[in-house]
Amino acid sequence: MVSANWFVFRENALLIARDRELPDEAQMGPFMVAALQQHPVGTLYGSPCHLLEVPSTFPAPEHHEFLGLRALLGRLEEPVLAMAGRAFQIMDWDRTHGFCGRCGTPTFLKPHEFSRDCPSCHLTVYPRISPVVMGLVIRGNELLLARGHHFAPGIYSALAGYCEPGESLEMALHREIHEEVGLKVRDLRYFGSQSWPFPHSLMMAFTCQYDTGDLKLQPEEIEDARWFPLDALPSLPNPASIAHRLINTTLDTLRHGHPSHQ
Ligand SMILES: [Zn+2]
Repeated sequence: MVSANWFVFRENALLIARDRELPDEAQMGPFMVAALQQHPVGTLYGSPCHLLEVPSTFPAPEHHEFLGLRALLGRLEEPVLAMAGRAFQIMDWDRTHGFCGRCGTPTFLKPHEFSRDCPSCHLTVYPRISPVVMGLVIRGNELLLARGHHFAPGIYSALAGYCEPGESLEMALHREIHEEVGLKVRDLRYFGSQSWPFPHSLMMAFTCQYDTGDLKLQPEEIEDARWFPLDALPSLPNPASIAHRLINTTLDTLRHGHPSHQ
């Protein structure tokens, strides 16, 4: 029998064994007994994956610890971290949608799909995903990088913001860049996307070219934003983030005419 992968959460933290592995299935008995919720969430490397949420007082076994997903960026293999993010988002959705948002009746989980239904007014709710656009603005041999107020010291990244209702990704990117730094951009090019489960974002990254305007920062959102020459970039976000890949790949493309690695 193929052993399963167990994603065990206590509040927002994942159970990890020996610093960087998922726990052994043989350890799961007491967790299953105590589980507040348990769902199959998919397969990984051909093995089924299960999510378990245990009460906030449940202790970690010896040589195990509960760690927040951010602390596991770059420590877990990328497919494992992606599945952990999926499990976390399903768990968080399930525990926050026990009652109908329209009429207050207890909802129930439908079999075979992730949706919760209200038996009274028939409202159906699905796990929430919030689209975020990220834009790296290029001006000749310079990149525009910015800091939010919550960033770790010294770190700069591409601009990013949530899409609003009614917007396309392109509209959201033009609006965000104009609101946050006062610039107009052109030639938007899609780069790639990454699920970002903090708590339920989907990051969609673009490059774009500077068009017009002078830097004028929105103080509520942006602590600092500057044009950095390619050979004098500041510290970048976590290497496991799409922001890091977006900036590094763009840097390679501008320097060598093509990305030397992905
Ligand atoms: Zn209802």
